[in-house]
Amino acid sequence: MNYLQPRELKDKDGQPIGLYHYTSMNDGTIHPIGYCSPPIGYCSPFELCPECKGGAMFLSGEECQRCDSKGVVEMANPCPGHATPEEARQHYTQYLLDKKTRYQEERSGVWHECLVCGALTNKFAQVGSWHTYSLCDEHRNREHVEKLLGIVGDSAES
Ligand SMILES: [Zn+2]
Ligand SMILES: [Zn+2]
Ligand SMILES: [Zn+2]
Repeated sequence: MNYLQPRELKDKDGQPIGLYHYTSMNDGTIHPIGYCSPPIGYCSPFELCPECKGGAMFLSGEECQRCDSKGVVEMANPCPGHATPEEARQHYTQYLLDKKTRYQEERSGVWHECLVCGALTNKFAQVGSWHTYSLCDEHRNREHVEKLLGIVGDSAES
């Protein structure tokens, strides 16, 4: 299980510093101190390598100078943290909408009403691997998916 929620940052002495990142905590795994709840999404200090698109991490034999074959590079301007847990949630929500949403999904022969106007459609948008929204061609866009998704809360995913 991965537990996703905002967590307060700590200084090197373990004192909370009043800033939050959206993080993932893996249950039941012992991590080195400081890595028990790594920031994820735009709060992460790393992003996918623009050169190999992360491929060097997964494909054997692929070498990438840019990221040293790690698949990720350090961000130029990493997220400094947020004053409230709510802002950290919003930052993660923006990440999902920018990077983890597919707008052109289609089920053949399965028709649902568009969640905005009620028109029948077999198309839908999908956020991450779990939220799906049936939306017609006119309403299947970021604006409407954002409204339907709202601000992501805490969640657990396996
Ligand atoms: Zn952030
Ligand atoms: Zn690379
Ligand atoms: Zn519609």
